Amino acid sequence: MPEPARPRPLDTLRWRGGAPVQWAPGKLVCAGRNYAAHARELNNPVPETPLLFMKPRTALVDMAAPIALPRGLGACHHEIELALLIGAEVADATLPEAAAAIVGVALALDLTLRDLQGTLKRDGHPWERAKAFDGSCPISEVLPIAQAGDPAALEITLAVNGAVRQRGQAAMMLTPPAALVREIGRAFRLMPGDLVLTGTPAGVEDLMAGDTLRAELVGHFAVETRVQA
Ligand code: ZN
Repeated sequence: MPEPARPRPLDTLRWRGGAPVQWAPGKLVCAGRNYAAHARELNNPVPETPLLFMKPRTALVDMAAPIALPRGLGACHHEIELALLIGAEVADATLPEAAAAIVGVALALDLTLRDLQGTLKRDGHPWERAKAFDGSCPISEVLPIAQAGDPAALEITLAVNGAVRQRGQAAMMLTPPAALVREIGRAFRLMPGDLVLTGTPAGVEDLMAGDTLRAELVGHFAVETRVQA
């Protein structure tokens, strides 16, 4: 059987309803272990300051399109996450400035080659091969913040083959959305079009060919997708 084509990066984010986001997608800054229960399920310590890593914009694909998993690299875990769209420069921001820079929210999957990540962690190497590959960040349309309300009050779920596996309330985050954006800006200047992934709740598991997924921003919208057979 021929290898499936590697996914092409999404070059435009879209607002709910289809209008293009006015900024090209930039970098994706991700928080690791931002829900204590998820840190524990992987036997990781709960960090005292946010653990940050990045994915390149070439990781972005449309969540509604079938998901292509890398082949021959071991288990690929689903990590459903609340994504924040940044609409202003954030460097040395106050908390209110950081909060005001969040102009929209989306659902994102931080796809993770868990076996490979384990090997890289064991050897003290960076995680990019496990976290930043083409197609490693399926993303939904973006809900404007005026419709979403306070991101710290949002809830996300991921169901696989009809059973809810992950449920996360932003209120349970160790570093809540605005504080996370402020902290990230201190390390990496955020620019309009950048995305922040706020970490995944407990319940990560392998994805399998043919799985059907339903990601939901509770009370707002859901995206149904599947893993390519
Ligand atoms: Zn993650």
